[in-house]
Amino acid sequence: MSLFQVDGLVKRFGALVATDHVSLAVNAGEVHALIGPNGAGKSTLVNLISGLVPADAGHISLDGVNLTPLPMHARVRAGLSRCFQITSIFREATVMDNLLLAAQAHAGSSLHVLRDRRHEQPLADTARALAERVGLAHELDRTAGTLPHGAQRKLDVALALAARPRLLLLDEPMAGMGPEDSERMTELIHRLKADMAILLIEHDMKAVFALADRISVLVYGRVLVSGSVDEIRGNPQVQAVYLGTEDTMAEAA
Ligand code: ADP
Ligand code: MG
Repeated sequence: MSLFQVDGLVKRFGALVATDHVSLAVNAGEVHALIGPNGAGKSTLVNLISGLVPADAGHISLDGVNLTPLPMHARVRAGLSRCFQITSIFREATVMDNLLLAAQAHAGSSLHVLRDRRHEQPLADTARALAERVGLAHELDRTAGTLPHGAQRKLDVALALAARPRLLLLDEPMAGMGPEDSERMTELIHRLKADMAILLIEHDMKAVFALADRISVLVYGRVLVSGSVDEIRGNPQVQAVYLGTEDTMAEAA
């Protein structure tokens, strides 16, 4: 059985079926990439999985735990953590304070931590380790909002890692990045793979082909096809869906 499983997930917005009986599985140690044109329902699926939006039907489980009835925070506690398409950092706070808040939120610690956060050594250690992990150890004192875009996305990933997830959901982590930042984010995600399963939504085909163990193609809310990188790359149906962006696929091949 897979670490993470989604079965028959449905979400309707009025007459629109944004998620149409989607089933997919992510194995431990695997990156499962979800691709598809704009409006295919990728973000909706991530919202359903994280619990931000309630599903109309279907079933979600992580490591044998039924997540379906659980609210978002309980899903996080069960081992599921996400990054948003739009960053969720506190722009006015320093990198360190962002990380401390995240570490504290998941430490289940008491109120005295709030009084004097910096002297709470274990939390500070955790915050530093998180910064180290995403390559921001040298930016701890910087105001988060002044970081370049790529570094803000890394901080975003670090905040999600504070929950110590078994499954990490990444919604377009390369969005708005130049090739150099994309490359670094690809390396970061590759390193994370050793410690957690990852469901990656990404438009950057180069990154998807470099990282994915399995790819599912979402079209009009449905999984059109699911397979290995080679299977997806050579699939004529997928190429038809990406007609006009074929160059992108060819470039990344
Ligand atoms: P993607 O992330 O693949 O671009 P989305 O999941 O954002 O796609 O959107 C899938 C479809 O659902 C789109 O047609 C979008 O307009 C619609 N949709 C998404 N969220 C809502 C909402 N809250 N209310 C109504 N329609 C929505
Ligand atoms: Mg989206």
